[in-house]
Amino acid sequence: MQSHEYWMERLRTWGVQREGHFVLTSGRHAPSFQLFAPAFSQPEAAQEIGQAIAGMFAGQGVETVIGPAMGGVILAYEVARALGVRAIYGEKDGDRMILKRGFALRAGERVLAVEDAVSTGGSVQKILRICEEARADVVGVGVIADRTSGRVDLGVPMRALLTLDVPAYAPAECPLCQAGVPLDRPKA
Ligand SMILES: [Zn+2]
Repeated sequence: MQSHEYWMERLRTWGVQREGHFVLTSGRHAPSFQLFAPAFSQPEAAQEIGQAIAGMFAGQGVETVIGPAMGGVILAYEVARALGVRAIYGEKDGDRMILKRGFALRAGERVLAVEDAVSTGGSVQKILRICEEARADVVGVGVIADRTSGRVDLGVPMRALLTLDVPAYAPAECPLCQAGVPLDRPKA
């Protein structure tokens, strides 16, 4: 398992780790942000991440890797490739996620859920719900970055390549706003 410093350096090299002043999905403001699409646009980067997450769950009998679209599609594929198993993904259907395109899980199937980053755990929970409804056996959740500093509880073991403690401010209390730093909407 590589160190925190190793992965931070990789994320900077790949253009994932951004420093500045960002609006998060929650509406809060933060001084750093990880945009994972640049890593998944580089096959060797995606492969290295996939192998590292697969390594944290090796020997656990994983049969299928599942991720949420869009952020988890390539990640699930690369983790599955490293484990030699199949990859599927869940897609938005109103407030929840469902399997489309003929994908299905069977009762007792050993499943690993993956996601690029966990902030509130919202999309991972929707994926876990798919597994629960199929009565699949969730081995764990593998993520690149745990942005909750280890505080989120998904009810199954979660492992992250990186654990981050990212400050997030209400806009009215944001020191970056007060300092006049231009605001960035990184996913726009
Ligand atoms: Zn701000």
